[in-house]
Amino acid sequence: MINIGCHLSLSKGYHAMGKEAVKINANTFQFFTRNPRGGSGKEIVQEDADALAECIKQHAFAPILAHAPYTLNLCSANPDTRKFAREMMADDLKRLDKLPCSLYNFHPGSHTGQGVETGIRQIVEALNMVLCAEQTTFVLLETMAGKGSEIGCSFEELRQILDGVELEEKMGVCFDTCHVYDAGYDIVDHLEDVLEEFDRIVGLNRLKAVHLNDSMHPMGSHKDRHAKIGEGTIGLEAIIRIVTHSALKHLPFLLETPNEVDGYEKEIALLREYCKES
Ligand code: FE
Ligand code: FE
Ligand code: ZN
Repeated sequence: MINIGCHLSLSKGYHAMGKEAVKINANTFQFFTRNPRGGSGKEIVQEDADALAECIKQHAFAPILAHAPYTLNLCSANPDTRKFAREMMADDLKRLDKLPCSLYNFHPGSHTGQGVETGIRQIVEALNMVLCAEQTTFVLLETMAGKGSEIGCSFEELRQILDGVELEEKMGVCFDTCHVYDAGYDIVDHLEDVLEEFDRIVGLNRLKAVHLNDSMHPMGSHKDRHAKIGEGTIGLEAIIRIVTHSALKHLPFLLETPNEVDGYEKEIALLREYCKES
């Protein structure tokens, strides 16, 4: 059985997301730790967190994924933005320790004109300030499409960040299929080669989650526009090959396709049907 779920809203609380996931036949889900544009984090009511933990255990969920707000930028040219991003991440990680949530994903950052080298150095410095040996959560770098000055659109850049982090054992990677394809990796016709390259440079042991999205634009376009499953340039067949690949099929797959919950429910049913044997 594959582990599949989708992005859900935290607005009604933590247990509510678990219940919603169960209702749409998901066994994992992703949520933003706070308003996507930043803002303050939602205080965690212990009862609510415990109820989610119970729900996850009862329904044998795969790891669930918390996503940092996408405005969080550890390598902005603006030092105040960098400081704010570090504080937000530290606060998120502190709160996540109370949740049955073992994965925290973030966009490495945009260097906003400073250059890739400086950007990577700032990301590494920030992670070394924020990570602590006691935390129970893995921090995942998301593979990026390379829009604007985004860092993390090549496996080499991800490796450079991992190499700089003192607590590398707390780090992992989230593989976003739309982003990787937009970044120029041919996961449609050469999936085997791409995964081999990922393993050689980053290490498949660092891979903790997959964002499962089709793409609206062709390979290498650096556009980052997600499409519904089977309606984009990646296509259903290639997506099935990804979900059933022996190196990936144990991972949690999270849909971030342009859908409301009923659309996600349909995509989950479709993928479960195609991947029954895996
Ligand atoms: Fe993301
Ligand atoms: Fe993503
Ligand atoms: Zn995206």
